[in-house]
Amino acid sequence: MASWAEQLQRELAGRGLAVASIPGKGRGLVASRTFFPGEVIISQEPYTSTPNKILVRSSCDHCFASSNLRKCSACRVTWYCSSDCQKEEWKLHQLECRVMAALTEDRKKMLTPTIRLMVRLVLKRKLQNEKAIPSSNIDNYYLVEALESHISKVDENQLVLYAQMANLVSLILPSHELDLKEIAHTFSKFACNAHTICDPELRPLGTGLYPVISIINHSCVPNAVLIFDGRTAYVRALQPIGKDEEVSISYIETAAVTKKRQNDLKQYFFTCTCPRCLKDSEEDAILESYRCKNQACDGFLLPESGGKSYTCQKCSISRDEEEIKKMTREILLLSDKASSFVSSGNTTEAGSIYEKIEQLEQNLYHAFSITLLHTRETLLKVHMELQDWQTALTYCRLTIPVYERVYPPSHPMIGLQFYTCGKLEWLLECTEDALKSLTRAADILGITHGTKSQFMKELFGKLEEARAEVSFKLSSSRGHDEQFS
Ligand SMILES: [Zn+2]
Ligand SMILES: [Zn+2]
Ligand SMILES: [Zn+2]
Ligand SMILES: [Zn+2]
Repeated sequence: MASWAEQLQRELAGRGLAVASIPGKGRGLVASRTFFPGEVIISQEPYTSTPNKILVRSSCDHCFASSNLRKCSACRVTWYCSSDCQKEEWKLHQLECRVMAALTEDRKKMLTPTIRLMVRLVLKRKLQNEKAIPSSNIDNYYLVEALESHISKVDENQLVLYAQMANLVSLILPSHELDLKEIAHTFSKFACNAHTICDPELRPLGTGLYPVISIINHSCVPNAVLIFDGRTAYVRALQPIGKDEEVSISYIETAAVTKKRQNDLKQYFFTCTCPRCLKDSEEDAILESYRCKNQACDGFLLPESGGKSYTCQKCSISRDEEEIKKMTREILLLSDKASSFVSSGNTTEAGSIYEKIEQLEQNLYHAFSITLLHTRETLLKVHMELQDWQTALTYCRLTIPVYERVYPPSHPMIGLQFYTCGKLEWLLECTEDALKSLTRAADILGITHGTKSQFMKELFGKLEEARAEVSFKLSSSRGHDEQFS
């Protein structure tokens, strides 16, 4: 019988893929044929998954839907949106249900998502061993075993924590014989291999382990994207991927300078050597730079060797370090104030302070500054909450040029921002603008999200509505002209 590795290669070969050893990166997924933008490279169900919020109503354990949720009456821990979803999960959940129902209320509180991910992994492995549930070439425990744990690089405190977590798992599963060392190693595998399950708008819902998708390496300029529909993971090509080209996705938020990205990647125990990480010094300077004193100049500033001032690399005008420090301090004070208003729920006050911050940052930072971008994203969120659609739209529009600079052309973040713009323009009855924005959104999200999900059907519906409205307006204005001619 073929080994699990041979079976996986055979399965992947049928999809135009192969697992290969990539110099300096370990395993990687390589295309053995061309994939076109929007094409699904691979999709996978999780080996184990859990919503991020346990005990409280958040998402269905099976499909991650957030409405019509009902608690499992036996364990009072898991939630389901329908009896179909409950049935789908039952073989696994009946074992889990029994052990969770036996837990004291205090111990139930110790069921963090990571602990639950492990409990479900142990139970699924047992059921697959007993052939009570099926396994397949891309759904078996060998694939979990083959994942990198980087255990030799994990620090002492973290190892202690993993050991304690393994103990907790054995307390939850008293009748199972567990290899505590193996469980601790698997926790380390979770840390560098598990994926955050997000809704179509990229808001986190849960965590899942997708052992084949974990083979795909990271790049800050990825050629593919990972998007979830429920808890099913889809990797789609963002651009044409040629034969023998490695498939890459991004593990982190890439709208950041190289230093920040490298820091965010530390938990995965590798140093990214993508084209952006290797040669981005000028781009980094722009993303974190101060703006030129000359309002008409779009140059970026670099510090003078003696300190004391920053000089524009385009027109050579300098800005005094003291002035910059003063503005930075002022922004910091205002930010503290704004966050205290946010935490006390006073969105109106928080909004007006963020507006002051944005004004100051406009005078301090370059137009493509990531700091300024984050402030505008906050202002968009705040004004959406306040239902001030016009102001929200202003900030939404301001973020797009920065997104277009930092993300690859078909990145979901750009598509989602056009979608938000389009919805706001529709609400404000700027129908033609809405049609333009929704068209851009559909072009991009059609690549990243496919065309079949409920989310995309809604977008296409809105686009049709805008299109009909625009042509109606055109024809009625034409009729109007004719009357007066
Ligand atoms: Zn469901
Ligand atoms: Zn239950
Ligand atoms: Zn990189
Ligand atoms: Zn300048």
